[in-house]
Amino acid sequence: GRKFFVGGNWKCNGTTDQVDKIVKTLNEGQVPSPDVVEVVVSPPYVFLPVVKSQLRPEFQVAAQNCWVKKGGAFTGEVSAEMLVNLGVPWVILGHSERRALLGESNEFVGDKVAYALSQGLKVIACVGETLEQRESGSTMEVVAAQTKAIAEKINDWSNVVIAYEPVWAIGTGKVATPDQAQEVHASLRDWLKNNVSPEVADSTRIIYGGSVTGANCKELAAKPDVDGFLVGGASLKPEFIDIINSAT
Ligand code: 13P
Repeated sequence: GRKFFVGGNWKCNGTTDQVDKIVKTLNEGQVPSPDVVEVVVSPPYVFLPVVKSQLRPEFQVAAQNCWVKKGGAFTGEVSAEMLVNLGVPWVILGHSERRALLGESNEFVGDKVAYALSQGLKVIACVGETLEQRESGSTMEVVAAQTKAIAEKINDWSNVVIAYEPVWAIGTGKVATPDQAQEVHASLRDWLKNNVSPEVADSTRIIYGGSVTGANCKELAAKPDVDGFLVGGASLKPEFIDIINSAT
């Protein structure tokens, strides 16, 4: 079976005081055992060392991005090697905010995923359609193209989690219905089966992101192809504990 996965993407939020409070809440929360749910918290780069050192040991950390190749003269970037050096096991790549605001193309994201994996990082790879794309009926075409650009550059999927995050659901309060999420997750799994392998399709976690809350997570988690969540806004709040508990 696929272990339930809950990621908390803090995005560009937090002060040192807020980080202390969030970590305290996470450390005190009652959650299922790590055999049942994998929890990964993703603060901004600057807070990674302090969060990693203070967080309960069964929770892991992720960076929100990394550079596309080996480090060097790339001002402002952080390399995969640096994350490995700091003991950061995970990285989120291809988030829609980076695709839309920073111009990251499908190919660039594919290159980033391949490089991060080659350095030993585990990757949360994000895909998702805009409202316009959904309304024009091209959702599956869009997420398949985003997934294909990754599939063309990697062979081993064992350290990849796919996050399906419809852009229209991110930060809008308009969560996908459980049926809408299930439909895309099942299509993505089918795409993996036909284009990668049945084994990869069966074992790869496909998690949902976009306005997930403590109130709507249970219904989504009940869907057979929803293997967890990537949570934005609610990951900064105590209800993140409730979302982790939707694993059981
Ligand atoms: P929200 O949960 O704030 O909608 O953000 C989702 C997201 O983008 C997680 O990566």
